[in-house]
Amino acid sequence: MFRVGLGFDNHRLVEGKPLYLGGLEVPSTVGADAHSDGDVLLHALCDALFGAVGQGDIGEHFPDSDPRWRGQSSDLFLQRALEVVRDSGYRLVNLDATIQLQNVRLSPHKGAIVERVRQIIEPFWTLGRDAVSVKAKTKERCDSVGRGEAIEALVAVLLVRETAEEPAEGSR
Ligand code: MG
Repeated sequence: MFRVGLGFDNHRLVEGKPLYLGGLEVPSTVGADAHSDGDVLLHALCDALFGAVGQGDIGEHFPDSDPRWRGQSSDLFLQRALEVVRDSGYRLVNLDATIQLQNVRLSPHKGAIVERVRQIIEPFWTLGRDAVSVKAKTKERCDSVGRGEAIEALVAVLLVRETAEEPAEGSR
């Protein structure tokens, strides 16, 4: 009846690139060095959704060797992941995310990121404000994130079955 999913993503940060989080450009002097727009929040969310329904990961659905995904907005990746969840007979109940980033203050932007993520999900399901949680932490100056060289995101999702399960073989 329920499924959980866990997603993780990270990207190296470089000067002079835009920083996208949850489909929103956040003011920053550094951005993700990535094949697509490098949106760690949406990439981790996609992996959590694909994982919850046993449908692989974002790299299998959108290989970075494929030029179609170069510079692509991650909104499109999330829309595809939501379609896969819906086609598997599940609905997203809530998501809980943590972004780890050292030198960019995210607290003024968290509300807007939540709204943007809810907006992308809206054509599929309407999630309440308390069903989309985005938290932000530093890494206390430890490791590559703590040195300001990288950004990470972790996302957990809960899904609930919307359609009846297929009857098991021989149980009819
Ligand atoms: Mg990524």
